[in-house]
Amino acid sequence: MADVYLIGAGPGDPGLLTIKAKEILETADILVYDYLANDEFLQYARPDAEIIYVGKKGGDHTLPQDKINEMLVQRAAEGKTIARLKGGDPYVFGRGGEEAEELMAAGLTFEVVPGITAGVAAPAYAGIPVTHRDHTTSVCFITGHEDPTKEKSGHNWDVYAKSESTLVFYMGVKNLPMIADNLMQGGRDPKTPVALVRWGTRCTQESMVSTLENVAEDAKARGFKAPSIIVVGSVCSLHDKLNWFEQRPLLGKGVVVTRAREQASGFADILREQGACVMQFPTISINPMPDDAEIRDAISGMDAYDWVVFTSVNGVKRFWTVLEDMGLDTRAFGGRKVAAIGPATAKELENRGIRPDFVPEKYVAEHVVSGLLERGVASGTRILIPRAKVAREVLPEELRKAGAEVRILPVYETGLNEQGPESLQDKLNAGDVDYVTFTSSSTVDNFFQLLPPEELKKHLPKVKLACIGPVTAKTLEGYGFTPDIQPEDYTIPALADALASA
Ligand code: SAH
Repeated sequence: MADVYLIGAGPGDPGLLTIKAKEILETADILVYDYLANDEFLQYARPDAEIIYVGKKGGDHTLPQDKINEMLVQRAAEGKTIARLKGGDPYVFGRGGEEAEELMAAGLTFEVVPGITAGVAAPAYAGIPVTHRDHTTSVCFITGHEDPTKEKSGHNWDVYAKSESTLVFYMGVKNLPMIADNLMQGGRDPKTPVALVRWGTRCTQESMVSTLENVAEDAKARGFKAPSIIVVGSVCSLHDKLNWFEQRPLLGKGVVVTRAREQASGFADILREQGACVMQFPTISINPMPDDAEIRDAISGMDAYDWVVFTSVNGVKRFWTVLEDMGLDTRAFGGRKVAAIGPATAKELENRGIRPDFVPEKYVAEHVVSGLLERGVASGTRILIPRAKVAREVLPEELRKAGAEVRILPVYETGLNEQGPESLQDKLNAGDVDYVTFTSSSTVDNFFQLLPPEELKKHLPKVKLACIGPVTAKTLEGYGFTPDIQPEDYTIPALADALASA
């Protein structure tokens, strides 16, 4: 093992981290990261890892480079394994080379994990291949902001200008007028296409295309800011044709997800896939029951039931936790029939080797009962329902009406997650929120316990409210709001689709 890993975190899209980088983040004792590296990577860190932010935004250095070097050396010398995470690639305008030299000089070992550099990725996500056989035979990575302490510039503008290379400038937005002038003076055609890509590969990506003669003015008029990559060359003319990423329907839209963190990832992934900037605001926490005795009892006596009906992913997970604690496995179900309310619950069961005998087409209790009756549930049928401690009673009541003997088995409790209302408030005030999504009545109730309804009202109609189904919508209406979006199917993918086509 090396003492320090200099890791490229890629340009921002969390999926563009390498597998090797992730593996190191998962094991390192200390994680040192920069402004540009996406915060999402911190979730890979060990829970007990020390996380150190060393900043670097424009000139405002939280910690100067020599202090960063010193700290890396000192902490590594203490015997800790350090993951030093940098935006893009550590050796492309990342000062990774300097850090490596310091580590060498201190007799420490290091390894480099290259990352995807913004100069390639940001153009790619803006429909610009940095090389293309019909356009250019080379590409040049150039700093738009030289070390100000240098006596003589290292730039040879005439060479850049006369080359037919694609020129990719990092850190160049402030110096854009100078860059454009120098290239034109050196003889580059003023009509050469130029593209700017800001926050490339992130949900906040923006891009613009202009020409060498107009770009400084156009960028200023649009208020185009750092961090941006500037691309000069005829490949920029492909932007309109190949611009796949910016077509995503929810690109740049701020979507608040109120589900419990344990449940949110599937929904968040679908939304991100559509381009959304997902803001997790888990209103619910999912807690095990204080005591397993009742669950164990039900599991030991499983033979006494004809059907087991799972109503949620969490129900399946908690049930299996206890089942496994008891040293049992899926065979404990023996000849029981199993129902899953909804495709996600069904999948969770399938992952454990159980293919449900019944998954209703509509995912509300009323429709479930008729489906179960069609499948032979009748007077005297014994049904076990592992579920949350507090939940709607419609399903058990209707089944009892049909003569079934129903046992409700609370396998988890939900509580109010009190973390983070201030951060949501800030995001609302900053105008970053476009949609708030509610995926159950309890997300609605909990949301308004954390954020007073009047607060949300202030942000309407800019902020749109989306509900998964009619029951959730009704709860929302109880607080005086009308849902703007509601899918036909009461599923998470359908809700995401409804947002995308809103
Ligand atoms: N090591 C990094 C570059 C660091 S220099 C890399 O390999 O990508 C910082 C500059 O990189 C910024 O000023 C900007 O020009 C560019 N940059 C980094 N991330 C970017 C992104 N997501 N979108 C556009 N430009 C980015």
